[in-house]
Amino acid sequence: MTFLGMPTTAPRGVGNLRGDESFPAAAHKALQDEQLRRNLGHATTTIRRKSGAVIGELPDWQELREAGSTLKANTMARLPELLDQLEANVTAAGGVVHWAADANEANQIVTDLVKATGHDRVIKVKSMATQEIGLNEALEASGITAVETDLAELIVQLGNDKPSHILVPAIHRNRAEIREIFLREMPGVDPALTDEPAELAGAARRYLRETFLSTKVAVSGANFAVAETGTLAVLESEGNGRMCLTLPETLITVMGIEKLVPTWRDLEVFLQLLPRASTGERMNPYTSMWTGVTPGDGPQNFHLVLLDNGRTAVLADEVGRQALHCIRCSACLNVCPVYERTGGHAYGSVYPGPIGAILSPQLTGVEDNASLPYASSLCGACFDACPVKIDIPSILVHLRNEVPHPRAEKAAFGAVAYTMDHPALYTRAQHAAKLSRHAKKLPPPLNGWTASRDLPEPPSETFRDWWAKR
Ligand code: SF4
Repeated sequence: MTFLGMPTTAPRGVGNLRGDESFPAAAHKALQDEQLRRNLGHATTTIRRKSGAVIGELPDWQELREAGSTLKANTMARLPELLDQLEANVTAAGGVVHWAADANEANQIVTDLVKATGHDRVIKVKSMATQEIGLNEALEASGITAVETDLAELIVQLGNDKPSHILVPAIHRNRAEIREIFLREMPGVDPALTDEPAELAGAARRYLRETFLSTKVAVSGANFAVAETGTLAVLESEGNGRMCLTLPETLITVMGIEKLVPTWRDLEVFLQLLPRASTGERMNPYTSMWTGVTPGDGPQNFHLVLLDNGRTAVLADEVGRQALHCIRCSACLNVCPVYERTGGHAYGSVYPGPIGAILSPQLTGVEDNASLPYASSLCGACFDACPVKIDIPSILVHLRNEVPHPRAEKAAFGAVAYTMDHPALYTRAQHAAKLSRHAKKLPPPLNGWTASRDLPEPPSETFRDWWAKR
């Protein structure tokens, strides 16, 4: 039994876990955007093909998935002791560990740490946790500028936009739009910039190099933390993470408490699963690991902020806690027929797609994201694709049961339950249903159910009638 204190959900009014409108309303708007659907269709098909090819090379892929799933379940069952172990080992290696109960605390801790350095600019390597808590906005409110260094994150930041995919945050932008954003927002950009991908990347590289070399504080997330050694790991593809993690004087890492693995050896499972499931690569291009502080090498001040922000509440739910096993590979997004059509913004949270549909409502409390558990056809493609075997469809159904239901729906199901519990009433209801044999639609207020499907036709003879005759 794991219990880390009073489970509370992520606070309102801070961070990026709640949208301004429900999923159906936001999805309806997104579906009008043909450019978005073209971009999404192209990107998800390409990633699926690449990923499928490299996964097919491994004869033991299913065993690896099983190992990943078991390791995560084991970690969640021992989370308190493993977090203590991590804290002791990070501290012994010269780092400082901070505990943040929620987004407000985490933002305050990071802001105070940056202020204490005397600098007013930080560089960032892409981090879902800091987007979740709205760290950039909190830093800005204190006069500190945060510069995203992942190319897609930079595009999103300069465009004053929100990420729409875990792995490809600017998936909704085409290169003409990116050129326009760079020309408008990037300091020192060449006005003759074209929309050739190599030129766009070159412009970003020039701007970022200058920023890397002149910024003394970095903020990162973490893909994994090893409890037995106190080692943190960041996996990325552009080398910007390596720059952030090695060049500045001070490094501040914000990490969700679920990112732990117990031992160094456990990493071998996840370092095989993650690149194949996410970018479709055999090996991750840049895997940076560090343990505390090393004199004369890399940042000389290291702070680790351990973030709860609703995770303890997720852990307290025996069915839903599997969502904490997620390694943010985005494979579930790339196979989801709903995500492929709506894109990420419709989910209203920094976590889009199937994982967002189960994680966001649990972090915020289901009443604050009540439409997300329904943002799925329950086809099960996400479960098959997930490298750590998270049973997303079962969690969706579980959460649908927890969502506050409309009174009319509750009354209708109450009436059905009562009828089925009373044989005479049930027989009469069956005979009444026969009268509606040729009706294709239900009358109001139930007509929503038959708006896009026909009413199934009741049989001409019920089983009871058939049985009685014999
Ligand atoms: S739920 Fe599974 S497939 Fe989806 S992002 Fe997380 S680890 Fe990847």
